[in-house]
Amino acid sequence: MSGELIVVIEDEPDLREIVAYNLEREGFRVQTAADGRQGLELVRRLRPELVVLDLMLPGLDGIEICRALVSDPATRTSRIVMLTAKSDESDVVLGLGLGADDYVTKPFGTKELIARVRAVLRRGPRRDANEPGAERLVREGVVIDPDRHEVTVDGEPVHFTAAELRLLHHLAAQPGRVFTRAQLIPRISGEDAVVTERTVDAHVRALRKKLGRWRELIETVRGVGYRFRDRRR
Ligand code: CA
Repeated sequence: MSGELIVVIEDEPDLREIVAYNLEREGFRVQTAADGRQGLELVRRLRPELVVLDLMLPGLDGIEICRALVSDPATRTSRIVMLTAKSDESDVVLGLGLGADDYVTKPFGTKELIARVRAVLRRGPRRDANEPGAERLVREGVVIDPDRHEVTVDGEPVHFTAAELRLLHHLAAQPGRVFTRAQLIPRISGEDAVVTERTVDAHVRALRKKLGRWRELIETVRGVGYRFRDRRR
């Protein structure tokens, strides 16, 4: 049982249920959404390993969702398998061009869908050259290594939660850049909890405490948000 989280966005109730049921039976964790907006919200909040995305949806269609997911650093690591009708061929091309990973044409067998899902998941999270996600950063006495999930302060390992590490790394990757609290919310969401701007403040307080004598590396920009100190300024 692999247990990866999959979000299924499909407006047809029967199909949604069949897909969810079969994925769950394969050991995946599944959350479903019946329309585009709800689906987008769910992916942003849960950050699943993979999204099964119907292209023909009421409201926000699959292509718009695909574009939104791939362009947002908070969601672009989620893999995408599109569900399409035969008549959607041009949308399939568009979706793949945007960064969707694969597609299955309706009507499809559940075995086929699961085979595609497994194949796409084997590629691991999507990495983007512009995304500083996995880069090891050295800032003064602080070393942040996201791949090893490790932070050291003056050479001593300090435990950071996954959300704290993502937030610290995001700030430290772009010293001097000011982030609003709203911009930082996607960095710390993903653990199912609802994240507000106050949660961002709480996380920053936790970061500073753990950074000890380097706490001032994270500067408060009054009335705006936070930035990582830029030594060159
Ligand atoms: Ca549909």
